Amino acid sequence: MSKRAGKLSFIVCGGGMIGLSVALGLRQQGHQVQLIERGQQPELSSEFGARVSAIAHSSRALLQQLGVWQKLPAERLGPYTGMQVWEHDSFARIDFNAHEVTRTDLGAIVENQLLEHYLWQAAAEAGVTIHSGVTSVAEQISDDQVSITLSTKLGNKQQLSADYIIAADGANSQVRQRAQLPLTFWHYQQHAIVATVHTELPHQGIARQAFTPTGPIAWLPLADSQQISLVWSIDDPHSEHLLTLSAERFTQRLQSFSNNSLGQLTLASERHRFALKMQYCQRWLQQRLLVIGDAAHSIHPLAGQGANLGFADVSQLLDVFAEPREDYHRTLRQWERERKTAAMTMIAAMEGFKRGFAGDNPLLKLLRGSGLHIASRVAPLKQQLMQIALGG
Ligand SMILES: Cc1cc2nc3c(=O)[nH]c(=O)nc-3n(C[C@H](O)[C@H](O)[C@H](O)COP(=O)(O)OP(=O)(O)OC[C@H]3O[C@@H](n4cnc5c(N)ncnc54)[C@H](O)[C@@H]3O)c2cc1C
Repeated sequence: MSKRAGKLSFIVCGGGMIGLSVALGLRQQGHQVQLIERGQQPELSSEFGARVSAIAHSSRALLQQLGVWQKLPAERLGPYTGMQVWEHDSFARIDFNAHEVTRTDLGAIVENQLLEHYLWQAAAEAGVTIHSGVTSVAEQISDDQVSITLSTKLGNKQQLSADYIIAADGANSQVRQRAQLPLTFWHYQQHAIVATVHTELPHQGIARQAFTPTGPIAWLPLADSQQISLVWSIDDPHSEHLLTLSAERFTQRLQSFSNNSLGQLTLASERHRFALKMQYCQRWLQQRLLVIGDAAHSIHPLAGQGANLGFADVSQLLDVFAEPREDYHRTLRQWERERKTAAMTMIAAMEGFKRGFAGDNPLLKLLRGSGLHIASRVAPLKQQLMQIALGG
């Protein structure tokens, strides 16, 4: 890979959907890019993957620009045209429909593994040098260069250098930790139980969410009109118990929260459990190190916005490197400021939803019911809620 005049070199650490996107985008701009991933390219499977993401319009636009969205098999995409949000055991309810914002859909549910598979393929084809099965174990970062040490599974060491390193190595980012970037975090004291569920009635392309006293439950419509992806966020004392229930008892409990809108439910996959934590890195730029995606921020999945925030980090970062600049650092500082503000706003919104719907005090329930009732009738308020759903 030869370096053209005015072009830079990058090392991206982490080949999740965010690392792969930034690597591909930078390569398409003509920069030299190396990507380090401790795993391998995710395989394509004929079964729906249990981990999915609601991809907002803004993220889809980026993926289209990268030429990847067009490659995703249409029969695996679950576009959703409506959203229904309600509180269990209360009259609080709000419905959104794509036509209210003159769109054909509000977003699409995509399997993480599928998206990562196609991003990986596109990155390799575009000329990103991918080092898979290796881990970054040390970085030397200065004001004008970075060099990193890799370790292979056999314990061999290799040295790489570049103009910039981008940490996209997820919520437990080791690159961020080694750089000692300050981190704000708190545990949500909840886990998310994730599974694929077969529904008796068609889901009609509607993403459903119920707020219960122990946490929100989301039923996300998959491409198959009778399969949904479940994200059941539940307070810690209860989450382990849910996993020990038989499949039948588990779906009975689930059904009791579903307003019977999907008929009889049947588990169609294993149940997976994820600890939920809010994390916010206070510095996203330090000398030649940039931090993006879950390495920079991780939020509650209740509004399905974690990956969407990461895609927005990528999109704005690609704008910075799209053309040669006298002073990249100044523009990167601005990028950092804007992205931190966007992440903080989303974190605050998630916190508001989560706390606002916690507990089953009857007075609070009445307030929530009235609040949603008003929101569903006041166009600007509803538009604002829909804007969050669409990715800001
Ligand atoms: C239950 C649940 C539901 C969610 N639903 C949604 C949703 O609907 N919509 C949405 O937008 N977001 C959603 N999210 C959030 C979304 O999944 C994450 O924001 C997104 O996956 C983060 O991507 P990433 O590439 O930043 O990090 P990751 O996906 O964590 O990728 C990091 C990569 O780095 C690699 N790596 C780690 N350390 C090293 C190392 N030292 N060397 C080399 N490689 C390394 C890892 O192997 C991994 O491939 C959800 C999250 C959860 C938990």
